[in-house]
Amino acid sequence: MTAPVGGPGAVGAGGAGGAGGAGGPGSRAATGGERPPQARHVQQELAGMPVRLYPATPTRLLTWLDCPRRYRFAYLDRPMPPKGPPWAHNSVGAAVHSALADWWALPFAQRTPRAGMAAVRRRWLTEGFRDEAQSAAARERAVTWVGEYLGCVDPGAEPVGVERTVSTPTRTLVLSGRVDRIDARGDTLAIVDYKTGRHEPDEADARSSLALAVYAVAARRTLRRPCSRVELHHLPTGTVAAADHTPEGLERKIAEAESIGADAARADAAYARGEAFGSRADAVFPPITSPACSWCDWRRHCPEGQAAAPEIEPWAGLSPR
Ligand code: SF4
Repeated sequence: MTAPVGGPGAVGAGGAGGAGGAGGPGSRAATGGERPPQARHVQQELAGMPVRLYPATPTRLLTWLDCPRRYRFAYLDRPMPPKGPPWAHNSVGAAVHSALADWWALPFAQRTPRAGMAAVRRRWLTEGFRDEAQSAAARERAVTWVGEYLGCVDPGAEPVGVERTVSTPTRTLVLSGRVDRIDARGDTLAIVDYKTGRHEPDEADARSSLALAVYAVAARRTLRRPCSRVELHHLPTGTVAAADHTPEGLERKIAEAESIGADAARADAAYARGEAFGSRADAVFPPITSPACSWCDWRRHCPEGQAAAPEIEPWAGLSPR
């Protein structure tokens, strides 16, 4: 699945925020402290040696793009700064994804909508809800979504992959990710991504998604079949937002991933050399504030993010449908 970045339905980031200063609340975590962690081995590149490809997932690249400080918390600082409380909408999403994967693992004759509904109840997670009643109401909504969705799915259309990891090298990256479902459509493949958030995606969302384009290219490489179609299946509304990429469109997306990856790799290297700590932390990993700061798992460590967007309840992202 493509992990949500910046909360349910939130895309992109707003304007750049101010540089974090030392001494404010949470400033140690925000700046990564005054000293680098234990010395790290930094691989040197020798003349004539092949350049090492930078391994990345779409989620990692988009986290860097949205907010370098959040990227640092998520991928570099170890131990990882403690996250905020779990989100109820993430519990819903995880349960629905697990249930649908379980459903496809059933023998054909058992793939009924009722079996999918039972799987949601079995896979339910209770983290992030206000109370038991809210959790139960959300669970029954999700049960209904899955039942109605599976009523429109052909159980005999065996997917090529479910929760399948795919990868591909590019000129500078090794891109990988796990796809919710890969369907065979004639001789070609289609990427299927389940969505459970409040936002009902449209064709523009499917077409502009970096993650879906990367999955299409990686599925083509991994499974050795053409793949240009990407689909967002929104469970709360039962709608499908689809886009068919051209080869040129996919190439542009890969170039976009390479551009983001080059910036992230430079920041990773600076971090490994100990050049992104203390007063230099925000030059390499600046906070980028936006309304998405309300949804950031590390806002408690980020004074700029706290100032930019209000704190919200862990269940604020639940779909009302
Ligand atoms: S709260 Fe906002 S600015 Fe701070 S790390 Fe999170 S996303 Fe970045």
